Amino acid sequence: MDGLTVLLLGGTGEARRLAALLARERPDLRVVTSLAGRVAQPALPEGEVRVGGFGGPAGLVEWLRRERVGAVLDVTHPFAARMSATAVTACAEVGVPLLVVRRPGWTAQPGDAWRRVPSLEAAAETVAELGERVFLTTGRQSLAAFAGLDRQWFLVRSVDPPEPPLPRRLTVVLDRGPFTLDAELDLLHRYAVDVLVTKDSGGSMTAAKLHAARRLGLPVVMVDRPPTPPAEEVERVEDVLPWLLRRSG
Ligand code: NAP
Repeated sequence: MDGLTVLLLGGTGEARRLAALLARERPDLRVVTSLAGRVAQPALPEGEVRVGGFGGPAGLVEWLRRERVGAVLDVTHPFAARMSATAVTACAEVGVPLLVVRRPGWTAQPGDAWRRVPSLEAAAETVAELGERVFLTTGRQSLAAFAGLDRQWFLVRSVDPPEPPLPRRLTVVLDRGPFTLDAELDLLHRYAVDVLVTKDSGGSMTAAKLHAARRLGLPVVMVDRPPTPPAEEVERVEDVLPWLLRRSG
């Protein structure tokens, strides 16, 4: 399958690792990583990169046909549900094989005090019952759900500055993972945080905050993953290599 074009839907650490792995192991492939363009200065993967939305399923169908794509790898974040749904629809229409690489979610350990909630709105309701000084790590595009909470103070960590609507009492820390346990403990102490809110992103890059919350006995509001349409799925970047071989040699 010399010259096969592979579209890698990215924006995650795994996607960058996969791009590097394919560059090393499969130099015969043309791999194009696609980024949404949300982050001003994204960490760039190895190889070819395109930036920006496709324009929904119809736009992606056109792109797949124009670039003669032979396989699509969806390595987006587990909460990028729209992009994942678009990939399922467009790949089915064009007849291109699709593999989703999705890391498992987190599992509570002994000592954890997690409250699982189905949405950001439910997280905002729950956090109002649990604490006053909230460490909010759900990403800068999910703050609107918390904007109505006036009694709580929020510590928000994001890669780029968040945009309104925002909670009234707010401190922003600009940072990008991975984070260490010591750094997370330090942050929680320094800001006297009494409750943590996170998406169930899974993976090790941002798990230290959960270990820190456990150590300090802090409650965690865990937002469940959004549903995505069924697709062939693996958990590890390494599992892509045999899948590609099975698909086209
Ligand atoms: P989303 O809600 O599923 O996507 C919204 C729209 O953004 C999509 O319909 C698509 O636009 C465009 N888009 C998303 N990912 C794209 C990609 N890799 N390449 C080209 N276009 C893309 O996704 P999101 O939550 O905004 O996430 C955007 C990006 O940030 C993803 O690449 C994701 O991996 C990364 N990310 C997300 C989170 C998170 O918590 N959601 C966290 C870390 C990283 P069109 O409809 O125009 O094609």
